[in-house]
Amino acid sequence: MLERGEGSEYGTRRARPSEGRNRSKARDWPAARSVDYHEPGLDPPWVPLRDEELLRYRVRDLAVRIEGSELEPRVARLYTELEARGLRLRPPCYLGDEWFSPDGVPAIAIPFYLAHGRLKQLELHQMMEVEGGTPEWCAQLLRHECGHAFDHAYRFSSRRKWRAIFGSPDVDYEPETYRPRPYSKGFVRHLPNWYAQAHPDEDFAETFAVWLASPAEEWRERYRAWKALEKLEYVDELMREASKKPPLVRGGRRRADASKMRSTLARYYAARRKLWAQDQPGFYDADLRRIFAEAPAGHGTAAAFMRRKREAIVGVVVRWTGQRKYVVDDLARKLVERCAQLSLHAPTDEVALALDVGAYLASLVTNHLHTGRFKRSV
Ligand SMILES: [Zn+2]
Repeated sequence: MLERGEGSEYGTRRARPSEGRNRSKARDWPAARSVDYHEPGLDPPWVPLRDEELLRYRVRDLAVRIEGSELEPRVARLYTELEARGLRLRPPCYLGDEWFSPDGVPAIAIPFYLAHGRLKQLELHQMMEVEGGTPEWCAQLLRHECGHAFDHAYRFSSRRKWRAIFGSPDVDYEPETYRPRPYSKGFVRHLPNWYAQAHPDEDFAETFAVWLASPAEEWRERYRAWKALEKLEYVDELMREASKKPPLVRGGRRRADASKMRSTLARYYAARRKLWAQDQPGFYDADLRRIFAEAPAGHGTAAAFMRRKREAIVGVVVRWTGQRKYVVDDLARKLVERCAQLSLHAPTDEVALALDVGAYLASLVTNHLHTGRFKRSV
């Protein structure tokens, strides 16, 4: 969901708005290659492959496209929403390596794995969740990216009033490590994790998304007496203006275009999973020794307990922290491993132990979200 500047093929995770403005002309989708398996009823040759085989494929060789996929009606729905609000600009969508709007370009990148059920399945196996995989989730993300695209098209964020309302877009762009205030009424709520608080650009995109998703009387009612209402009214004012005039920027280079990505799926996933580097051995030892027992207590080993409860504990932590499931699960796996290395044991009270481990994991995740040790990737 980031706006993104130049990065590796599968993407850097942060961008600074000042990076990588570019001016070249882009094509509009559908820009699909004519591959015969796009004929109705024909599956791509990689569909029956096992994961290990599929991972050897280069992304561009998958030859997936929006047209004919389940994304096509979802993009069409976005365009219908824009039309209903009187807007004429239809930001072109293309398949990229993740959700983003290229910096300075009025376009929307949708992750390529959403263009085919088999790739969504692989994504689920690799990352444990599929961001934007359901119609409603996809619609939310499309509206959010569309907000960035409109800002890029009309350069609204360069205006003094925009900056007075949302803040300077030139502040450091670190949406993975922002420190949200859950009760703030200064921000709309659309994507999870109070994402509007991540950066002024995200605040604008989220406000736009709320504006687009519901009629004015609805958001005026929902945000009555909220400071965020001022932002919604300003977006309303800007979009009235946009409905009457052509965009200042029309094209630009489409970064991380899936049809050009030479990396294999294996490399792509390896890069995405390597999101947090901190991994000093012994980092968790003192805490684990406090939670578990050093001597056998008749309830088996700590590692066995963790293996048994991992799924349930991870589920609860994900639910309340909003952190990525694979990230929490990776951390839980590390703790299991460390428990085994330290030969720790489970104390008697299993309920208290599960609570302890859950609270510990949640505190690690939340603390890391704030300190940046434990990157959130959205
Ligand atoms: Zn965003």
